[in-house]
Amino acid sequence: MIIKTWRSLIIEDKMRSLRPIMAVPYALKHFAKDGVWVGNLNVNVTNLCTQHCPHCNALPEGAVGQGRFLSFNELRDAVRNLPSMPMSMSFSGGEPTLAPELPDMLEWASSVCPFGINLNTNLYGESERFRRSVETALKVNARIDVSFDGFGEVADRLRGAYDVAKRVEENLKWLAKRRQELGSRSVVTVHTVLNDLNLSQVPQIFLLSLTLGFKQTVAPVNRFFYHTGCDDSSFSLTFSSQLTAVLKMAEGLPNIGQSRRFLWGILAYTRGQAPKLCPYLHPLLKTYKVFLGPGGEVTLCDRTESLGNLLEEPFLEMLKGEAYKKVIERFQKCEGCWLICFVEPVLAVSPWVGRFGL
Ligand code: SF4
Ligand code: SF4
Repeated sequence: MIIKTWRSLIIEDKMRSLRPIMAVPYALKHFAKDGVWVGNLNVNVTNLCTQHCPHCNALPEGAVGQGRFLSFNELRDAVRNLPSMPMSMSFSGGEPTLAPELPDMLEWASSVCPFGINLNTNLYGESERFRRSVETALKVNARIDVSFDGFGEVADRLRGAYDVAKRVEENLKWLAKRRQELGSRSVVTVHTVLNDLNLSQVPQIFLLSLTLGFKQTVAPVNRFFYHTGCDDSSFSLTFSSQLTAVLKMAEGLPNIGQSRRFLWGILAYTRGQAPKLCPYLHPLLKTYKVFLGPGGEVTLCDRTESLGNLLEEPFLEMLKGEAYKKVIERFQKCEGCWLICFVEPVLAVSPWVGRFGL
């Protein structure tokens, strides 16, 4: 059983390395037609959440579409206003499994997106609706990313909720069991935000993801230019020998799900030495990742400044507007971030970016 799990992880790794190559003809076709292609439509189905993480970048103060759920019909209408079908869709929030119509959206999106779909969840739910959503994701072979930052009180503090580790660990075990029972090909990834508070617990998280046959990713806690929610300086990641040891351990994991360059860039980021790798300022990637808010609002990166409403206006028109220009001006002043979904695409098209002086 363990041997089979590892063989499948190796095959998944090979497929992952082929995916960007397979994406090239698709991207080129749409780039040649409109000069625009959407690699990933990140659907924020709701801004409601079951946790209240102090470092949350998904729900900054003033985030668009507060307290609303995007409906399945609205999602289909919004996608019609894109220049072409996005290569993939991610469903996140808030907590997306709160949304009543999430299962319908997952089924539909998995049948129309050439590069599949992702479900990003804190896996903290207990309700029937939560289980139905996660099982649907397994049935359509969605990639499932689960946040898991620590154990005991540390987890509760980092996620702003009660009994977090116990509930999520139980749900992870349930997920592994259901994945096997349903014969699902979903790749499940445990994602951990590194922080000075949880570093000593991270090896135990690695052991958990490894034991369950899941992938593992890590990222530093980021401080975003638009983030006003966390002034507590203890929610930070400082350069240390302990951090270096954790990254070395991560690099050696057979189930690590990210590039070595991203991993070691975390050290550079903590020292303020990481390069700024912003997809929105890159000629090929400027519309690679687009966020769709619960009311149809389109944002990039910061979720507060909307370019327009995709239920009312075509995306190509938004790119000609003043709002888009203003947003890009703000991004030009940003000092940079080190988040997988923004930095990894730039690394993928920038082979010359090295290991940042390590
Ligand atoms: S679970 Fe995700 S969306 Fe919810 S508060 Fe935490 S980081 Fe934000
Ligand atoms: S570097 Fe770009 S993607 Fe990252 S926070 Fe700044 S504007 Fe956003």
